[in-house]
Amino acid sequence: MGKPVILTVDDEPEVLHSIERDLRQHYGNIYRVMKASSGELALDTIQQLKKRGMPVALFLVDQRMPGMTGTQFLAQAIKLYPDARRVLLTAYADTDTAITAINHIDLDHYLLKPWEPPSERLYPVLDDLLSDWFARTRPEYDGIRVAGTVLSPKSYAIRDFLAGNQIPYQWLDIDRDAAARELVAKVSEGSPRLPIVFLPNGEALMQPDARELAERIGMQTSARRPFYDLVIVGGGPAGLAGAVYAASEGLRTAVIERNAPGGQAGTSSRIENYLGFPSGISGSDLARRASTQARRFGAEILAAQEAVGIQRKDPYRIVRLKDGSEVSCYAVLYTAGMKVRQLGIPGVQQLVGAGIYYGAALSEAATCRGHDVFVVGGANSAGQGAVFFSRYARKVTMLVRGPGLNAMSQYLVDRIAETANIEVLTGTVIAAVWGKDRLEAIALADAASGRTRKVTANAVFIFIGMAPRTEILADLVARDDAGFILTGRDIMVDGKRPPGWTADRDPFPYETSVPGIFAAGDVRHDSGKRVAAAVGEGSAAIGMVHRYLQAV
Ligand SMILES: Cc1cc2nc3c(=O)[nH]c(=O)nc-3n(C[C@H](O)[C@H](O)[C@H](O)COP(=O)(O)OP(=O)(O)OC[C@H]3O[C@@H](n4cnc5c(N)ncnc54)[C@H](O)[C@@H]3O)c2cc1C
Repeated sequence: MGKPVILTVDDEPEVLHSIERDLRQHYGNIYRVMKASSGELALDTIQQLKKRGMPVALFLVDQRMPGMTGTQFLAQAIKLYPDARRVLLTAYADTDTAITAINHIDLDHYLLKPWEPPSERLYPVLDDLLSDWFARTRPEYDGIRVAGTVLSPKSYAIRDFLAGNQIPYQWLDIDRDAAARELVAKVSEGSPRLPIVFLPNGEALMQPDARELAERIGMQTSARRPFYDLVIVGGGPAGLAGAVYAASEGLRTAVIERNAPGGQAGTSSRIENYLGFPSGISGSDLARRASTQARRFGAEILAAQEAVGIQRKDPYRIVRLKDGSEVSCYAVLYTAGMKVRQLGIPGVQQLVGAGIYYGAALSEAATCRGHDVFVVGGANSAGQGAVFFSRYARKVTMLVRGPGLNAMSQYLVDRIAETANIEVLTGTVIAAVWGKDRLEAIALADAASGRTRKVTANAVFIFIGMAPRTEILADLVARDDAGFILTGRDIMVDGKRPPGWTADRDPFPYETSVPGIFAAGDVRHDSGKRVAAAVGEGSAAIGMVHRYLQAV
């Protein structure tokens, strides 16, 4: 299979030339950029592509063309390539046409001409659409395929794992796809245990867990060395930054990551305030770049591996993993970040992955298309989630307990106000959920009066604050009342070293109450709770690890 195609169509030669140039510059490595000067010629081109079995990822088409208009072309083109993303190039005067096209041909986006500068007005939009296409609908794909049902927690977990680890796969929805049902029936006797993962070598894995899947597809899940200078627990921004600095400075470094590198940031649809990315960067892109960078310097990243305990056997530190194995080292950097607080309402837990999702669950975007979804929470992550899902859903309703969006950055408040299909209900909480195998309805309660009303709901995304993941260190290091880890000067008591402190020096910055165990990022007491802060801390902590190692 060749590179997937991006096809652009415009009758004005200069415009066609410049859009082709911009597309090639940014996407030429991964996609084949093709052009056509009319809808009719473009249809001939895609018929040829179809015959040759070439995938088409995106159509970027001018609306105003003599003969066939952009929307008329797209209506024909999507019969051949139903999964290709569709973008219209329009003039101001055509916006009504574009809005109609959103309903009629499921238009993904319309771009107003001119699109200069492309880094702000073209690439961010196309990046999102292409990564969405790549992750979910890669046609005639000869790699990993996952067969299951959309609203199933087990299928969701596998898709989320693959998407989070940026592993391309094709999703086969057995409720909609007869060929997929047949494929499933062939490998299962009686009632199939879903999801089934079909590997490129023909093997079928029934209902694998993340660990088994990671092993079978060749991800590194166990340590290669008997001993490391530094083991980092958690592959979020703090852990990955630590890994880049440690490995690049010659330390034998392993990162243990329970799910996918990138952490919370990896689930963000667009991080707009991280230095050096003026038009923002998607969390998954940042995670991919950072883990590639860490690996390039020689850090090992163990995927689908959870640390369940840390032991001190001076001068060594031993990290115990969930599969029973252990990794030994001189120093540990603990960067396990935070997890979303759970919504304490009966019935929610059974529906997680089947209509209820904690966090952004970007892999579910396609299943929201045309539906009404709810976003619970009023801080930045909820705002980002609402803006992201508004591109897919018919309507997004934000449920905010407080009187307004006071906890949210102004740029997001403005973005929400500008987005026609987002409604903000303040003073409103979820009081109950209903659904047998999937979410069907929720009760909205007025926080002041307690009055409730039942509404139909397809999907609820919950962003109601975070708690630190520090349970495994509870008996080992000092924490504050909320469970965040104390480090450096914070562990001194009245200017004196704390009881039990064994080193003949004060604790280094980022060092916990156990010498040689460091903490950085969101998990640390009084940290910045931002990507840049986590990256800064993870990097700075390595300087302290070096000082510690000099004396071991
Ligand atoms: C949806 C969303 C959007 C956000 N948007 C922005 C933004 O636009 N700008 C901004 O500056 N900040 C943003 N933030 C905040 C930012 O993402 C966090 O501050 C940052 O990710 C913290 O990094 P961290 O490395 O400390 O922790 P985390 O990102 O939480 O990473 C911790 C990692 O450790 C892993 N882990 C946990 N326990 C274990 C264990 N026992 N064993 C192995 N691995 C473990 C987790 O799986 C995770 O990958 C956002 C957060 C969210 C949730």
